[in-house]
Amino acid sequence: MPLKIPPATQSKFTKLGIRTPFDLVLHLPLRYEDETKITRIADLVPGESAQVEGEIIHSEVMYRPRRSLVCQLQDDSGDILYLRFLNFYPSQQKQLAVGKKIRALGEPRMGFFGDEMVHPKCRVAGESVPLKQALTPVYPTTAGLPQPTLTKYIHAALNALPLDDTLPQKILQRLHLPEFAASVKLLHQPPPDIDESALLERAHPAWMRIKFDELLAQQLSMRVHYRERSRRVAPELIAHNKLTDALLKDLPFALTGAQKKVWHEISADLSRPHPMQRLLQGDVGSGKTVVAALAALQAIENGYQAAFMAPTEILAEQHHLKLREWLAPLGIEPVWLSGSLKKKDKTAASERIASGDTMLAIGTHALFQTAVEFKKLGLVIVDEQHKFGVQQRLALRGKGSEPHQLMMSATPIPRTLAMSYYADLDVSVIDELPPGRTPIVTKLVSDARREEVFERVRAACLEGRQAYWVCPLIDESEALQLQTAQETFATLTQIFPELRIGLAHGKLSSAEKAETMAAFKAGELKLLVATTVIEVGVDVPNASLMVIDHAERMGLAQLHQLRGRVGRGAAESMCVLLFQQPLSELARARLKIIFENTDGFEIAQQDLRLRGPGELLGARQSGVPMLRFADLGEDDKLLDRARDIADEMLRDFPQEAQAHLQRWMANEPDYLRT
Ligand code: ADP
Ligand code: MG
Repeated sequence: MPLKIPPATQSKFTKLGIRTPFDLVLHLPLRYEDETKITRIADLVPGESAQVEGEIIHSEVMYRPRRSLVCQLQDDSGDILYLRFLNFYPSQQKQLAVGKKIRALGEPRMGFFGDEMVHPKCRVAGESVPLKQALTPVYPTTAGLPQPTLTKYIHAALNALPLDDTLPQKILQRLHLPEFAASVKLLHQPPPDIDESALLERAHPAWMRIKFDELLAQQLSMRVHYRERSRRVAPELIAHNKLTDALLKDLPFALTGAQKKVWHEISADLSRPHPMQRLLQGDVGSGKTVVAALAALQAIENGYQAAFMAPTEILAEQHHLKLREWLAPLGIEPVWLSGSLKKKDKTAASERIASGDTMLAIGTHALFQTAVEFKKLGLVIVDEQHKFGVQQRLALRGKGSEPHQLMMSATPIPRTLAMSYYADLDVSVIDELPPGRTPIVTKLVSDARREEVFERVRAACLEGRQAYWVCPLIDESEALQLQTAQETFATLTQIFPELRIGLAHGKLSSAEKAETMAAFKAGELKLLVATTVIEVGVDVPNASLMVIDHAERMGLAQLHQLRGRVGRGAAESMCVLLFQQPLSELARARLKIIFENTDGFEIAQQDLRLRGPGELLGARQSGVPMLRFADLGEDDKLLDRARDIADEMLRDFPQEAQAHLQRWMANEPDYLRT
């Protein structure tokens, strides 16, 4: 099999993500050129790539409108096509000298001189040069790696590697999919009579086979991970229902049906001797925090500690306040740990965690960054899990025996995404909001009508309600973002001299942040000007108006999260999306979706269609192999089948399953273990 690749070429391959010879097999064409036939110049259609053949009857270097080599090619029909080259070598000039017979492949268009091709691909023509038998693939490539070189190595790999099928015949027939070897060969060298649009749209059966194999590999690896976890050991945290019942009794509300359902799922998981890895999904405001508190209590009543992590200090601080309030009557005092604590306080907090003096630690990622050793960690709760990297979660897992993990997310994950990238986790969904919430009215307002928005804010605040003003997101510069927030704050302070206004942004010290949030919560501040630091988790039921400045700059998930900060009390709530014109197409699409939908799942599904999985996956992206061929927006049926077949293969064809993983996941050693 050995395929000799010179180091210089290898480094180009690396740039293209080609690390093994098999990667060459899977380096599939972007499009094809048709060099299997000749088109008469008279029949050329502007914009449609074609190959012509004829004789050069004129060739000269022109200096206007730019320096270029311009040739006239005449074919048998007597028509003339101009070939134009802006950059050219002397050798090219020679190849295109008067009297030469050549074939030119390119896209014809109406040019300066008449019908022309700019930079066509030229080769010597003649009876001894046969037409190609297959469409010519055009591969994604990189500077310094010409198509012919890349093609040569790909063909060598196709010939040298064993491409035997990893799918058992029985399954292949049932699925009506072509064989793997035939499929890749067809995609690299399609016959001239093939339906080219099916190839380009990736709808050809050969494409289906590749996409299926990729999805199958992903399903297999996720299953394997899942099974492996169920062989590892974690503490059995039995549901004694002492502390948990006590909390439920004290709460000013009863759990919703959906909260009860997910709580039972989590409680059952915790009592098993294997590490739970459960994702708790619930739209903003659905009441995940109390479920997290119950889970922590089940750990604590078994003598194990719990850690509760949030991605921002504001959010962690809120959890701390809430849990302190809920747990104090039960005699449990959580310890607070964040990066901005003074060294002395941090040390004190770490010591209380290490000695087992405290059973619950709440904080930001400082919880696992600093050298915090838990005495007996039984459960890790991660809020807004998509904001954390996989590595960070694993770091916490690495401390001591393996704890259970509860991950929470308010960014709903569409079904196909959950089935693919999250297939190694168990998922619980809170699909119901607590009663008494009034729906949020969303308004789209052009920036030209800013004044009207000011009046709306004033009216709401004077009626005793509270409002958020979210400052524009400025991706390029954090400093600029801060400056904008400060300027907005100054402007609004001038406009509303009668209102007390607060300012929250990422650069405040944690004491300042906590103070501001507490004052807003207590109703002392009527208006809170904030950067997107309030995106996640802020909970002030009396706030019923949200203004999002430059909403066109924000992503869908972010807009949905921000909007979810209001509509938490009984008062009718409103979210005003201020936008600046002109809108890009993407921004327009996003605003339309957020305006028309309130259901987070629907918004997420549309987001997936709009942008692909990257955005929704957040940090998880770095932890799982991304799909290159299959498209979760379109290939949902294929995904369903891959999931069923993965189960069947692990059960009935373990060797084939292993071979399939080996073939597809060779670059992802983490995903190979079975
Ligand atoms: P999220 O799921 O967005 O984290 P929270 O846990 O912050 O939501 O809950 C939102 C608000 O709803 C909080 O004020 C919380 O105390 C309240 N809440 C939670 N569960 C219920 C319930 N079953 N009935 C009434 N209010 C509830
Ligand atoms: Mg929350």
